[in-house]
Amino acid sequence: MSWRGALQQYICHPEKYETVSSTESQVIYHDSTAVIITDGFPKATEHLLILPRNASLSKVHPTTALTDHIKHKLERYIEIAIKYIIKDFKSKYEILDNNLAENLEREFIQIGIHHVPSMNNLHVHVITKDFHSTRLKHKKHYNSFNTGFFVKWDDLPLKERPSDPKLIEKKYLRDHDLICCYCGQNFTNKFSKLKEHLNEEFSKRFVPNNE
Ligand SMILES: [Zn+2]
Ligand SMILES: [Zn+2]
Repeated sequence: MSWRGALQQYICHPEKYETVSSTESQVIYHDSTAVIITDGFPKATEHLLILPRNASLSKVHPTTALTDHIKHKLERYIEIAIKYIIKDFKSKYEILDNNLAENLEREFIQIGIHHVPSMNNLHVHVITKDFHSTRLKHKKHYNSFNTGFFVKWDDLPLKERPSDPKLIEKKYLRDHDLICCYCGQNFTNKFSKLKEHLNEEFSKRFVPNNE
């Protein structure tokens, strides 16, 4: 099985991946319509994927797949993912900023798809906006969630799929400056400086719960 096809196993046999094991992702919820998994290479503290199980829908490009009708059907899974994320995040961290603590869903969680997907199966990202993760290893990783490369749930569907994926990747992943998602500071191409700064931004707001 190719790496691009790695999500298929969770769609076909979600019950096999419900416990934490050596597999990269864990299924946190599934029914006949969709499966919710933890991303095997999380780019933030909380990073979930929603995978619709319908075989033909799973093959449609994410920019055009999520019509109002399909979105309506998937709303319920978005809700489950958000609830899971809030609970899990709060179990790991104390939130120092009261305003943020009260508005985690609105201020700290982003939902959407990648303009040019790297995996074959349709999936929706539900991710915390901290990008505080050892799996966030280069500029492309960061920019794929912090530029127009990430198409927000509310902006879907787009009118058409991208005619030139390479151009989109160049514009957003390679040529776009690294901008701090908390304060807007521009780090141009300095990825390790941005990483250091993201750590500082994170520790200003969140303290690990000592359990
Ligand atoms: Zn993706
Ligand atoms: Zn900042």
